[in-house]
Amino acid sequence: MLGQPASPLLWSINGDSPAQSSLATWCAYTGQSQDNVESWGWLAALPPTERNSVRDAWNEATLVQKPFTLTYSLRHPSEVYQAFTVLHVPLFSTQHQLQAWLVFFAQKPAKAPEADKNWELRLIHGMIFTQKVLGILLLSLDGSIIRANARLGQFTGYSEEELRHLTIWQLCVPEDVHLHLQAMRERLQSDQSYPPFRVRYLRKDGTPTWGRTTQFLVRRPSGEPYYFFHVIEDVNTQVQSEVERAELLARVQEAHNEALARTLQLETIFETITDGILVSDRDGYIIQSNTAVRRIFHLDAHPEYLKLPYQQRTRIMTLVDEYGQQIPPEEWPIPRLLRGERLHESRMEDIRMHLPDGQENYLSIAGAPIFDQEMQIAGAVLVIHDVNERHLLESRIRKSFKILLALAEVLVDLPERHRATTASTNQLLPGPSFRAAGEYLAALTCQMLEYQGVSISRVDEEMVLHMVAIAGSTGENRSAYYKRYANVPLAALLDEEAIIQLQANEVVVRSIATHVSASSPYTLLFAPMIREGQLVGVLSLEKKEEHLPYTLEEASVAKAIAKFILLVMERERMQREWIEAHSSELALREANQRFDEFLSIASHELRTPLAGIKGNLQLAMRQLKALNSHKLSEMEELMKKLDKTIAYLKEAEDRVNVQNRMISDLLDVSRIQANKLEMLIGPCDLHKVVCDAVKDQRRNTPERTIILNVSCGEPLMVVGDADRLGQVVHNYLSNALKYSPTYRPISVSIERLANMVRVSVHDQGPGLTPEEQKRVWERFYRVKGTATQAGSSPGLGLGLHISRRIIDAHHGQSGLESAPGEGSTFWFTLPLEQAAPAPSEQIPGSFSSHSA
Ligand code: ADP
Repeated sequence: MLGQPASPLLWSINGDSPAQSSLATWCAYTGQSQDNVESWGWLAALPPTERNSVRDAWNEATLVQKPFTLTYSLRHPSEVYQAFTVLHVPLFSTQHQLQAWLVFFAQKPAKAPEADKNWELRLIHGMIFTQKVLGILLLSLDGSIIRANARLGQFTGYSEEELRHLTIWQLCVPEDVHLHLQAMRERLQSDQSYPPFRVRYLRKDGTPTWGRTTQFLVRRPSGEPYYFFHVIEDVNTQVQSEVERAELLARVQEAHNEALARTLQLETIFETITDGILVSDRDGYIIQSNTAVRRIFHLDAHPEYLKLPYQQRTRIMTLVDEYGQQIPPEEWPIPRLLRGERLHESRMEDIRMHLPDGQENYLSIAGAPIFDQEMQIAGAVLVIHDVNERHLLESRIRKSFKILLALAEVLVDLPERHRATTASTNQLLPGPSFRAAGEYLAALTCQMLEYQGVSISRVDEEMVLHMVAIAGSTGENRSAYYKRYANVPLAALLDEEAIIQLQANEVVVRSIATHVSASSPYTLLFAPMIREGQLVGVLSLEKKEEHLPYTLEEASVAKAIAKFILLVMERERMQREWIEAHSSELALREANQRFDEFLSIASHELRTPLAGIKGNLQLAMRQLKALNSHKLSEMEELMKKLDKTIAYLKEAEDRVNVQNRMISDLLDVSRIQANKLEMLIGPCDLHKVVCDAVKDQRRNTPERTIILNVSCGEPLMVVGDADRLGQVVHNYLSNALKYSPTYRPISVSIERLANMVRVSVHDQGPGLTPEEQKRVWERFYRVKGTATQAGSSPGLGLGLHISRRIIDAHHGQSGLESAPGEGSTFWFTLPLEQAAPAPSEQIPGSFSSHSA
């Protein structure tokens, strides 16, 4: 036998050479070199006379693919020739392709006993049943096991003896019995070869084990079926790896599905995000965009725009920066991103875009480059936030604020103008005529709010309208208008419901053919002027944008303006009356009383529109925050956007607060001018005032360092108005924060001097020249070109003026020490014991010492 007893050698399909695994065994026995065995070279180990017949037998068997036996001799280097009986068993793939031959070599006894005719068969049996690689089973035609080899015993856990008492039906799992049945049936019916099949055998311990079975039918010499011969390979490892492979495939499929679902989900989010999102490749071509982009860019009529090369796109639209300068194409966001810049929304705010349809849109833009694996820029992503709404809101606030400011200025100016004329000439001059004042106010309103036309009319007791003033483009027909509306019953112009609404102090919007020359009706907004419950006048406004409806904010601003105009004109009238009455005590008192009334109304009216806007902002913020708390991980991107929106709103709220502050300052100035700055004088703990103001500021600007050199717990009593003194500290402190770099600390100190106390706020900001030091206390004075910290808006130049007046009223002193580049220390002193005013006194402002 070759090598190991009874271990088969594996042969190639054609029998022309032993397979790689068997090559060594063959060569070791025959002494052939490995290179010589191929292409039938192995036949050289046979005696020359046997070579041809062996080759023919192989070739034939390869065609039939059935087991066969040959007898031939092999030359052994030491022993010359040795005779062998050689059994060849074909091995098939599952697709029934011949894969290889298993070749068993059994040494033939030198001399076969004459009597034993079956020696050869027994030899073969002995040979195959002792081999250790394949399980072998002999089955009777009814499926009883006649014989099994040790390898099959190992495979199933039974002994050879135990196996001999089983049937194939017991040895295989019930679900696979039909496979055996079918194979046996087919083999019996035809001589066609049957492909090997995989079945699960049952081990003795009841567990299944996978085997690949090749079945042969052995016939008697008469051709009658005799028994089945099964060759069984252990394929558990193979099955196991197949199962693993299938599982792996399933997992890959699952991951693929998941990725697909996620992509879909992201696409949906991408599409539903209200900000525009553009993705460009490294050449500036847009490879992806969402619906919001088409909306923001008004692309319904220009669907091809996004497909254009970058240079062409810049020719169709233009971008304008916040200073109104056109942005050159190479400074547009996409090229900047493709150069590696990141764009932060806060720094790319309020770009104005002229769209292909001729309209324009305010945008705020953020974005980042996209990098590939080599960290090269592969494209860019751009987020476009439509800030039109916010911009409109802001510009409306700005405009209405401007007009109210201008009106208040007129109010502030009137008494001064009057005082100046009376003082210099010591004789009574008539004030500006009623109509002239009206014309001035109408023109002012029209110009500030950028309206098409503004008119002011008086309404008499009979409800008859008399136009007082008209401004705007309609003013060209001024005399025609005056004539037409000189004496018109209100009922001829407006329906009854509108008149009732006006009398109830409500704004109305009506379409009427008011224009002298125009044929089509115009939509006007009428705001009432009410005095002592009576409708005494009407302000009418006409927008430039005929198609846009009047908003609630516009209505309330119009109402505030109407009231202001009434007050200004009333004041004008009173002034005139007062002059005419030669400083009559009575008139003076009445004028004063009216002015008080005006101040309280003005402060209320100024704040009303802002309060509404602020309410809306706070509501929106609450809603966004609530939404934000339901964060889902997939929506994180979306949430980041929402956070940004919250930041916007917060910013808008801060701006409203700043404007509120400005309005308060403005009112304070009017009060100072009118000697009406009210103080609630009483004992007041200055330590507490200062510590509270610092606490407030620290809360508002947690990123800043404010050093406090004050023993907060210990009271330091002065006589004064705690709120007003707080206002002064607050003003010094907010200036210090506003005008010095964020990384520089601010320090606040209180020092006790002989009979006074000194509060000072020191900053390391730009400092002031001696000239500027003198002028900062003036009304409306602001140092030109002083930079403010991001987030703080420049003020009106009133804070220090008011502060000085408040300190004056406390009989204290205010001042500053500063030098350019060396920071500033703003201070005030207050007397400690005496010299404080009596409680709840009205303190007249001092107009001589420090006024502008
Ligand atoms: P505003 O509201 O403009 O700050 P203020 O009356 O408080 O008005 O200040 C007037 C001007 O004085 C400011 O506009 C600024 O130019 C300058 N100013 C005030 N405080 C400081 C400071 N701490 N450092 C430098 N400049 C200051």
